[in-house]
Amino acid sequence: MKINENYLKLEQSYLFSTIAKKVAEFTKQNPDVRVIRLGIGDVTRPLCPAVTKALHEATDEMGIKETFKGYGPEQGYAFLRQTISEYYKGHHTEVSEDEIFVSDGAKSDLGNILDIFDADNTVLIPDPVYPVYVDTNIMANRTICYMEANKDNNFLPMPDYAVDADIIYLCSPNNPTGAVYSKDQLKEWVDYALAKNAIILFDAAYEAFIGDETLPRSIYQIEGAKKCAIEFCSLSKTAGFTGTRCGYTVVPFELKCGDVALHSLWLRRQTTKFNGVPYIIQKAAAAIFTPEGQQQIKENIEYYKQNAALLTEALTELGMSFIGGEHSPYIWLMCKSGMTSWEYFEYLLQEAHIVGTPGSGFGKNGEGYFRLTAFGEREDVEEAIKRLKALK
Ligand code: PLP
Repeated sequence: MKINENYLKLEQSYLFSTIAKKVAEFTKQNPDVRVIRLGIGDVTRPLCPAVTKALHEATDEMGIKETFKGYGPEQGYAFLRQTISEYYKGHHTEVSEDEIFVSDGAKSDLGNILDIFDADNTVLIPDPVYPVYVDTNIMANRTICYMEANKDNNFLPMPDYAVDADIIYLCSPNNPTGAVYSKDQLKEWVDYALAKNAIILFDAAYEAFIGDETLPRSIYQIEGAKKCAIEFCSLSKTAGFTGTRCGYTVVPFELKCGDVALHSLWLRRQTTKFNGVPYIIQKAAAAIFTPEGQQQIKENIEYYKQNAALLTEALTELGMSFIGGEHSPYIWLMCKSGMTSWEYFEYLLQEAHIVGTPGSGFGKNGEGYFRLTAFGEREDVEEAIKRLKALK
């Protein structure tokens, strides 16, 4: 027996465990201090009533002989794919229901999609980045080229024709930086991918946070994208599904490598290795796309966006440099006067009892930066702001 030795090349992910350890030590030494956590990437608002109603109804159906469901279609039930297809029309994009694959979340599909690509492909990944893109490619021993995301390009790297890439990862709105590509910028990426015969893996997990009609919520709003991009969406942050688990991936029919349609490869992969998302969960997901569900999830998204607005207002008042927080739940701020990410972490923990995420945990360009999230309770955000202001 031989193991996949590539797993041994993965860097241990110490980021969140180190944070937890440091916070536990601090709380042990300061049991009376209320620590505020602005580092978590998980949501705090519960599922909306339209979703829980659908969950209850679908659960009842499963207990009745006539409405019980066993194995479902691997690609997802048509009732959900149809509603998602309608949702795309809302941002002026045609995606047919048969191009949509219902998933148990974006993370699995972002990893699994690599099954349909040869190991001998060069991947282009921004730095800093959501770590899943890097680790899943290390597991397959693919060559990774990093593209620099930094202050000079507003953390939005643009194509460099001198670099030959086969698989390109883009995430907009971005985790961890909160940066959002414009339509013109995405057009440049689509043109580059078409010129290089490359594919864009477009992570739209945070599209629902975009509040400006002129910004693209889907890469398919860009002409030519259906010939070069797969889009990954998640209901985790959109509708509080982090624990409920549902997302969807779009593989357009036009997307080809030579004569081979990637849609048929992905369908083959899914029908072989995946048995679909539970009926109950798909019913709950469909409820998100009803007018009632849309209204209710919008209220939760607005709650988080208001948290972000309060934080960014305070940071502006304090004269701190940051990006994000407008069309994103993430605020990416520059650490205080030359501190490293971990020094700033210690400083905020000790002096303001606030926990955030050191930017260096997302890649080398994250050094000197710090990520705050807007997923907390309003009361905690307001208290954090008071403490940040008192620091000055
Ligand atoms: N993509 C990005 C950029 C994320 O930040 C996350 C979760 O934090 C995911 C994908 C994973 O989403 P899901 O919960 O649907 O697996």
